[in-house]
Amino acid sequence: MATAHLIGSTEPLEIRKIFCIGRNYADHAKEMNAAIPEAPVFFLKPSTAIIGEGEVIRIPSISKDLHHEIEMTVLIGRGGKNILKGNALNHVAGYGIGLDMTLRDVQSDAKKKGLPWTLAKGFDTSAPISHFVPADEISDPHTLEVKLDVNGATRQHSTTSNFIFKIDELIAYISQFFTFERGDIIFTGTPEGVATAASGDRLEARLLSPTQTVLASLRVSVQ
Ligand code: MG
Repeated sequence: MATAHLIGSTEPLEIRKIFCIGRNYADHAKEMNAAIPEAPVFFLKPSTAIIGEGEVIRIPSISKDLHHEIEMTVLIGRGGKNILKGNALNHVAGYGIGLDMTLRDVQSDAKKKGLPWTLAKGFDTSAPISHFVPADEISDPHTLEVKLDVNGATRQHSTTSNFIFKIDELIAYISQFFTFERGDIIFTGTPEGVATAASGDRLEARLLSPTQTVLASLRVSVQ
């Protein structure tokens, strides 16, 4: 059973659904030669894709091109359906950092053939996540920095102020179609700089405050 951990709490939450937002930063949409969406684009990963601090991402033999996508993560603490935008952030238990690991070659092939992304995005170990900072300790989740270092060199670095769709809009939009449950997670999309993560690489992902305090961090390696 995959669990989510709120920093300062001893009670883990069982992870339910994992929503991943595609193209939520204009600069990433551009690097993928994709249009900026008019409504949020999202897909699901299974909870069996989750790994945590110090664990290993295993590249399936079907792929020759694993990519990293650093993303702020949102942990849902209170479920609901048809959640209003104005009330949406009250459903959030915490914020963290995660990696939407992607088999880019498998995804490109699926895109070309009009097939689903499930294998490219949902394989075992494809969803490394950090622990979550309680939401009441974050005054504004749209002022935070996401930063990914690979083998000590920065690869991706942006701020959540660049989101195309803010967290309240994402929750309101998704909840029209999917009932949120306590323990659901949202990966909020990646900024530009996605690139290959090869066997032996060490990835360090961080969520930083505007004053550069590390709020959440995650270290994983690739095998
Ligand atoms: Mg992504």
